[in-house]
Amino acid sequence: MPTNCHESGATPLLLCPSCGKQQAHGQHMCRDCGSPLTPFAHSDPVMGVLSRGFAVQQATTNPRKLIVVVGMWLCLLPMCLLGLGWFICGIVILFSPDRVLGLVLTPVGVVLICIATTILWRTTSSYVRQQRGSGTRKE
Ligand SMILES: [Zn+2]
Repeated sequence: MPTNCHESGATPLLLCPSCGKQQAHGQHMCRDCGSPLTPFAHSDPVMGVLSRGFAVQQATTNPRKLIVVVGMWLCLLPMCLLGLGWFICGIVILFSPDRVLGLVLTPVGVVLICIATTILWRTTSSYVRQQRGSGTRKE
């Protein structure tokens, strides 16, 4: 008596580990949510970028573990501080005779600060919302 699909000759059911929907064979990424399904999805140049994008999107919108939030802070806090430093330097240089560098540094610093704080805010608030939700959902 066959105990698994290899012995019975049936093709195994391929399910997405992220959304749980059934996937076609030979598929490297989920058509529904974009989750990588095979190791090839991580090593291929184009699909690798999409896989990393999926990981960042998951970490930002659906962080399940505190370590993900801490990791995002460790990665993005230096970027935020760098942006703040460039912004301050740019403002100082704007009042000096060589103000062209200040015209570049100030907006680049603002953009860095905006990107880093937006991602950190979304990640942290999603995690806090999720923790509150799982705390009240217990029956
Ligand atoms: Zn999926």
